[in-house]
Amino acid sequence: MALKVLKFGGSSLADAGQFRRVANIVKAESDRRYVVPSAPGKRFSGDDKVTDLLYRCYDASSNGEPIDEIFTQIEERYNQIIRDLGLSISLAKEFEKIRASILHLPGRDYVASRGEYLSGIVLAAYLGYDFIDAAKVIFFFDNGLFDAEKTNRVLSETLSKHERAVVPGFYGSMPNGTIKTFSRGGSDVTGSIVARAAKADIYENWTDVSGFLMADPRCVENPQVIDVITYKELRELSYMGATVLHEDAIFPVRFAKIPINIKNTNDPAAPGTMIVDTPPADDLPRPITGIAGKMGFSIITVEKDMMSTELGFGRRMLEALEMHGISFEHLPSGIDTISVVVASSELEGKREPLLADIRRMVSPDVLHIEDNIALLAVVGRGMVKTKGTAARIFRAISEASINIRIIDQGSSELNVILGVEEKDYLSALKAIYREFVG
Ligand code: ASP
Repeated sequence: MALKVLKFGGSSLADAGQFRRVANIVKAESDRRYVVPSAPGKRFSGDDKVTDLLYRCYDASSNGEPIDEIFTQIEERYNQIIRDLGLSISLAKEFEKIRASILHLPGRDYVASRGEYLSGIVLAAYLGYDFIDAAKVIFFFDNGLFDAEKTNRVLSETLSKHERAVVPGFYGSMPNGTIKTFSRGGSDVTGSIVARAAKADIYENWTDVSGFLMADPRCVENPQVIDVITYKELRELSYMGATVLHEDAIFPVRFAKIPINIKNTNDPAAPGTMIVDTPPADDLPRPITGIAGKMGFSIITVEKDMMSTELGFGRRMLEALEMHGISFEHLPSGIDTISVVVASSELEGKREPLLADIRRMVSPDVLHIEDNIALLAVVGRGMVKTKGTAARIFRAISEASINIRIIDQGSSELNVILGVEEKDYLSALKAIYREFVG
């Protein structure tokens, strides 16, 4: 029998109505055996996520301020869900314990994790599934890094004893037993870890959009949903700012070659996006899978006659950046010029000393920094097979009267990176989207 692991995000569990949808989805297929919930999210715009309320409680308590008002709001969120679902469980004892702990400042992560913990208890009761506390099956090393191997061993063994279970997302425990969370949005990571440990056939990640979109809907009107995307393409797009899934959620399932299906809790019939290691044999992708981009980059340009014959020039240039702890994004170069693209935030407070060191280490003829650059990543596994994709990208940009400042194409032909002035960012993105999608 196939086995599915499902993760539901905060908006999918925001109130009792959403819990009902979740239960309908889980019960619709008997192979949906392990479920990873987030803490209840926003019910309407302007509402609070339970996790944010918990962080606020912790901060108030650290400042010696009362937590009653915020804590009561949290209690009420869960109590209302329990009442509306007609459940007979009570979280009173749990609330008492958490409230007492917050006052003794048990650690920020412990407090934040209680949102998922309580959500898990309620969902398990509603589904009639076992509850497995993530603290007992997800482990971190002393240095705070995730302990993948111990987790996989203990979690696999535990899951094998539970036919159906709910494992709350977002947290695990340190070797001394204290609670540690992943970074924000980390229930995605838990879902991926559970899918690997359960040797799932698929990891369904249920959220509030019908998949991964080809472009940011704030920039392009009604962008199309991507049907199939590879892990590699997803990594490129996520790195450039496209978000649906936590970045670290890819690694556990990618390792085990388990596909991720991004699905919409509010439109379960929509196929969503499949994220796969290797696309199906009959895969006929369009040249472009997606476009993403970010503002806030700077280009450091160095020119020097006969640079190309000067051994070690590039290394010394990069060493200057390294000395200042600056990491770079791209390195487009010409015969006698090298440009280094860095996030402008990396240069804060370091500009003058960095320039001085570059001057000292490579004695350039010309050295300058240009700010307000936006980068666009045009990503697609179909580019390898299709001639003329770059030509279409550049034609679209030139027809929109936009000047391209840099171009970078990796030899894998998976992406083309373009740098434009920030003021041209939106028009460039729209022009490329129009060219390939219409
Ligand atoms: N509740 C946590 C957050 O808001 C984790 C998650 O939802 O994935 O970041």
